[in-house]
Amino acid sequence: MTQPGENGERQAAIAERGDTGLASLFTRNRAWAEAKTVGDPGFFKRLVGQQRPRYFWIGCSDSRVPATEIVDLDPGEMFVHRNVANLASAADPNFLAALQFAVDVLRVEHIIVVGHYGCGGIQSAMTQDREDAIGAWLAPVRALHRAGGNAQETDADCLCERNILAQVTALAVNPLVMQAWERRASLTLHGWVYAIGDGLLQPVCAPVSGRLSDAPMVSAAAVAR
Ligand SMILES: [Zn+2]
Repeated sequence: MTQPGENGERQAAIAERGDTGLASLFTRNRAWAEAKTVGDPGFFKRLVGQQRPRYFWIGCSDSRVPATEIVDLDPGEMFVHRNVANLASAADPNFLAALQFAVDVLRVEHIIVVGHYGCGGIQSAMTQDREDAIGAWLAPVRALHRAGGNAQETDADCLCERNILAQVTALAVNPLVMQAWERRASLTLHGWVYAIGDGLLQPVCAPVSGRLSDAPMVSAAAVAR
């Protein structure tokens, strides 16, 4: 357990080792926390009580796509799950736990799958057939790529969009989501793509607010791109 005063000693020890990069993170953290409370002294105290996010973000782990930052939201406003290539896999217990918490406990109103152009995970799935952890994780994306079977499948951005659609579709048939719809919960699924080059988000499919048979996905936007 960390005792009072140990943080400062730890930072000093880090600085002595010449690891000023890590030391600067503590400095930047303090400055950020102070800035947050300048205009709103109760900001952190309110967060201690509970979180009430309306959004569940499923995004890529890529460091260039920081979830809350690119939509300019504060802590407490968005529940976030990130992994390589933004997969919403029903076979992933980590993801399922986050989804269950978001839907059943937090009762979020929107689940947003966010992929991004220039995704290393997508490119790896297209060009490599690895037998390591990354290869195993990206197997569904590789299968999606192979199932394409047309000239567009050489386009990583196209596969990126198709992967987003596949994740939204997977969510629409996930039992946790279907049960929420059955109890008339307000829950809408979205598929968005982020362009690292200009920092802008755009939808790649129409929102889905019920069973696919009742509200078929409109993927034309992505197909037409
Ligand atoms: Zn990525």
